[in-house]
Amino acid sequence: MTGRFLRAGACPVCRNPEIKSWKKGTFDFAGLRPDQIKITDSAYGKIWDLGVCGKCGHVFADPYPEPDFIASLYGEVEDPLYDQEAEGRTRNFVPILDRLDRLCPEHGALFDVGAATGILCDTARRRGWRVDGVDPSSWAVRQAAEKYGLTLREGGFEDATIAEASFQAVTMVDFIEHTPRPVEAVGKAFLILAPGGILCLVTPDIHSRAARLAGRRWWHLRPGHLAYFSKESLRALLEEAGFRILESRRYSWTFSLHYLASRFQWMRFFTQSRASSFLRRIPIKLSLGDSFEIYAVKDRPS
Ligand SMILES: [Zn+2]
Repeated sequence: MTGRFLRAGACPVCRNPEIKSWKKGTFDFAGLRPDQIKITDSAYGKIWDLGVCGKCGHVFADPYPEPDFIASLYGEVEDPLYDQEAEGRTRNFVPILDRLDRLCPEHGALFDVGAATGILCDTARRRGWRVDGVDPSSWAVRQAAEKYGLTLREGGFEDATIAEASFQAVTMVDFIEHTPRPVEAVGKAFLILAPGGILCLVTPDIHSRAARLAGRRWWHLRPGHLAYFSKESLRALLEEAGFRILESRRYSWTFSLHYLASRFQWMRFFTQSRASSFLRRIPIKLSLGDSFEIYAVKDRPS
């Protein structure tokens, strides 16, 4: 399938028509391939032509890929490196699940959007949640079944048939920046949450200090990211959908030393050496504070 692209015309979040060009693209997006949008791609610094909203500061691909086209690419994504890092990934999800424990002490049902190979779902299930989730990659859904015995849904989230008002928590960790339909995605999360249910959303902050300092080398600048939210655009996105923000924090990532080394050309020698399995066991916490971690509630009708 070849790429088809659409023009935004207005801010995709707040609909403000005053948008400007923010940065010129740095890769040939007409030839976009699945390996460029997988989670562990190392195409850092590669960006779409980006526009910025004069009102809410939202930064977005303009033109952007048609939803069916980008969905078909995600359907083909295979990412074995992601799953080799299962231990580190689990560590990333623990603080989120700790917070959800506090916000939803009764647990109940949790839906993970962009569930990848099911690591968050598996971790949540061990803590007493009933879990469900969706991912477009058939490879990832197969891995989730084989590794964790999870039955995830394969496909897009926005149009999935999911029972309404039936979840106590919805998690969107590094999902919203990948979809060309963020408004529909958050609307869908609202729909499937039960009254009183919580949405946890994690996404990069392009106006963060780390992003400004790293400039073009900021690790979140990559072809898979179609949008970069600002504090204001996230608030608009969530409140428009009906959510009330409860907590907003800075997110810290944990990776193994092996994974970080594999991201940098000059360190690759170590990852191919006998030190490899040793490096995999060393967790490094990156407190860059360059992602938002937001908890929002679907209030019960008063
Ligand atoms: Zn806007």
